[in-house]
Order: sequence, then structure tokens, then C-alpha cells
Amino acid sequence: MADIPDWKLVETNLGRAKQVPYEVGVLPIGATEAHNLHLPYGTDTYEVEAIAERACALAWDQGAEVLLLPAIPVSINENTLGFPWTLSYKPTTILQMLRDIVSSLEHHRLLKLLVLNGHGGNELQPFLRELFRETEVQLILVNWWTVDPEAFETIFEDPGEHADEMETSLMLHLRPDLVEMERADEGATREPHFTAMKEGWAWIARPWDKLTTNSGVGNPETATAEKGEQFIERVVEKIAGLIVEMANEPLDEWYPYESD
Ligand SMILES: [Zn+2]
Repeated sequence: MADIPDWKLVETNLGRAKQVPYEVGVLPIGATEAHNLHLPYGTDTYEVEAIAERACALAWDQGAEVLLLPAIPVSINENTLGFPWTLSYKPTTILQMLRDIVSSLEHHRLLKLLVLNGHGGNELQPFLRELFRETEVQLILVNWWTVDPEAFETIFEDPGEHADEMETSLMLHLRPDLVEMERADEGATREPHFTAMKEGWAWIARPWDKLTTNSGVGNPETATAEKGEQFIERVVEKIAGLIVEMANEPLDEWYPYESD
């Protein structure tokens, strides 16, 4: 028998898939955007795909019948288009894509979906609320970088927000052949004028080309492949745990709560 992963839709086939009663889908969402001067445009997609693949493989080994869907490679980047070659879908486009994928899954009777978001500019909660009454598919959202704040704080010395120590460490672990450390700038940002914005209680879709010099937020210089590997392992383990729980949870009227 060929060594084909049953949990990975783009690699499995109809012959195999017919034999698996899939319980949970996983939809990774990446992005195509500038990541300082040293990381690839596809950084968010590489990261979220690797995490999703490892988590699905681990959950499968623990008995979960999980199906990894192909990653969406473009995201909401309206405010970062100031940097060349960044690609953007408008929020309503992402909503439509989610709606259509969820509808396909519902058609195939795969009724539990984990949306694994890999891009900070995607605020997807409103979309899950929008779809809530449209579909039988039970949607759960995870922004992968938030799943283990303790690991984040212990592993990284000086993390920022974008193409920083954390993301650079991950890419040094995942795709060192695509990281050009010598090009990186220090990821400094400009301060806004408004007190309310400095204090963090007034929000703006930050114009990234004014906020940053070369799109980076946070200095990547302390990044190492070891840190990336450590963090990714912790994140993968936790997400695999969620997938297993989703697979085991009966899809009754009380899902995901305990019945009375
Ligand atoms: Zn990123």
C-alpha cells in the first residue's frame, strides 16, 4: 500500500476517502503579504499549513477521523497593500469563500469544522456568527498563535507582531532555505498621535506602510530554529487535542456542551 495520508484531502483519493467516515474538517487560512525584508510572502500559509498538517497527523494517530482541507492562500490585507505584491481579499470575499466551503462540507455531511486562522488581519468571528443559522456545520475558530500563551512567553525573548522573533523562528524551523536574515530590518513601528490609540481603546485598521518601515513589527534578530520547533510542537499538540475532542463529541442537540 502506498504511504498516502488519509487525513489530507489534496493527497488522498476517492478510493480511500470512500472508506473513511470523516468526523472533523480542518480549514487552514494563510495569507500572501510582505513579511519584513527577509521572510517569504507565503509565510502565514507555510506556518498554518505546517501546524495544520502536524496536528491532523497527530489527531489521526490518536483515532480522530479528520480531513485537512487545502489552505486558503490569500486573506484580508486591505490595510497592508501599501507594500508591493501583497494580495488581498476583502472581508466579504472571505465570508463568501467560507460560506461556499461550509456549504460543500454540509452537502458531504461533514458537520464539524475547525477554522484554523493563520493571519492576524483576519477577524473571523463575525463570519461564524453570520453563518451560525445558515448551516448545520458546527464551526470552531482558532487563531493558532494564541493557543499557548505560556509557551509563547517562555520561549520568546522579544516578540513583536509581524515577521518578528516568533514568525522568523518558525520559518527558520520550517523553511530555512527561504529565510534571508541578513536582509531583515529591526521591525520598528511609529507611534500614533491619538492618546486613545496609544492606550489601546480606540481601534483603526492600521495603514501598515505608515506604521512600519518594511512591514515588520518586532525585531527578528533573536530568532532561532530551535525556538520555532519548540513553539510549533506545543501549538500542534494542543490543536491535535482539540481535533480529537471534536471528533469524539457526539453531534447531538447539545453539542458542544454536556447534555442535561
Ligand atoms: Zn505572518
